[in-house]
Amino acid sequence: MAVIRDVMPAFQLFQPSSISDAQKLLEQHGQDAWVLAGGLDSFDWLKDRIKKPKAVVDLSGIEELKGIRTTRDGIEIGAMTTLTEVVQDPIIKDKYGLLAQAAELVASPQIRNQGTLGGNVSQDARCWYYRAGWPCYRAGGNICYADTPVGRNREHAILQAERCVAVNPSDTAPALIALDAKFVLRTPKGERVIDAEDYFLGPDIDITRMHILQPGYLLTAIRIPSTWAGASFYFEKVRDRNVWDFPLLNVASAMVLSGDTIQRVRISVNGAAARPLRLKAVEDAVRGQPRNPSTGEMAGKLAVQGAVPLQFNAYKIPLMRNLVKRAIGGVQEATWAS
Ligand SMILES: Cc1cc2nc3c(=O)[nH]c(=O)nc-3n(C[C@H](O)[C@H](O)[C@H](O)COP(=O)(O)OP(=O)(O)OC[C@H]3O[C@@H](n4cnc5c(N)ncnc54)[C@H](O)[C@@H]3O)c2cc1C
Ligand code: SF4
Repeated sequence: MAVIRDVMPAFQLFQPSSISDAQKLLEQHGQDAWVLAGGLDSFDWLKDRIKKPKAVVDLSGIEELKGIRTTRDGIEIGAMTTLTEVVQDPIIKDKYGLLAQAAELVASPQIRNQGTLGGNVSQDARCWYYRAGWPCYRAGGNICYADTPVGRNREHAILQAERCVAVNPSDTAPALIALDAKFVLRTPKGERVIDAEDYFLGPDIDITRMHILQPGYLLTAIRIPSTWAGASFYFEKVRDRNVWDFPLLNVASAMVLSGDTIQRVRISVNGAAARPLRLKAVEDAVRGQPRNPSTGEMAGKLAVQGAVPLQFNAYKIPLMRNLVKRAIGGVQEATWAS
């Protein structure tokens, strides 16, 4: 049956050529403004007539938001750098291969050619009810349609759910958390640099947003310090269709070994909660332990402590346990290389 909708509401399109002009426009238009990056998430919302901004600020003409630069202490990736550029960059491939591997598993080549790193970490929840415009908690209403006995919640959260049980769908976010990346924001009060893990919000903090960006804010760059350059990396993503699909779950870890002993480690999963989770308890438990299957087993069990399944997603608990087990235990070492 054809779905007939009203025409898309008109909006003013702004195409600034500098970060400061873009930030000023966002500040000026406040709640009425929408940031447009590659458009893959944005155009869904606009064309479905679910989000109706009055002003759209297109970042595609801002050269200073594009490209990958080496810095005194690592690299800086402009927010408008495409995922394909991230995948193909020789320094990222050589030193921070975890991010290249995660980005390469995002969707399809066409989507990676157009989608940006800033957009990938800022994308919204993919819950079917919310995307279809149902007035749920995340949309400002007072019900969750997914968390009901008959709700479609196979893809939803097993951890840290609170009223909203949607998950964060980004593949690059956990890799950036494992690499201890810093997100650079331009705000009405100037520049702010925050840890990757603090960029994302759970429903306990704000049920209507997945990240800390507020009206007038812009994500300008992502910095990766050299701390984890060349570490032993592991990324694994599980999805329904291997050709291209959002993650059901993914795991990213960075590890430095001394012989067989885990000296330093960071690990993060996504698809389990409304925000990518850094597994600090796992990191603390495995530091100083040998990297072997039994340490992996212990890590996997610890990772899923407190997990609560919904009607149709109990499979995510053993799945997450096994992903963490492999990431820590090294049973199936990542084979990705340039
Ligand atoms: C069919 C399909 C399959 C997909 N599969 C996957 C997948 O497997 N894994 C995965 O991780 N992702 C997947 N995605 C998501 C896709 O990668 C993201 O939609 C894309 O990366 C968003 O980037 P974009 O540049 O298109 O941003 P846009 O869609 O333009 O923006 C996304 C959101 O971020 C905001 N935003 C963007 N840039 C900034 C900035 N610099 N500052 C402030 N706010 C900003 C926008 O306002 C918007 O809310 C898929 C998308 C589609 C359509
Ligand atoms: S899971 Fe969240 S986004 Fe989905 S219907 Fe429930 S409240 Fe809305």
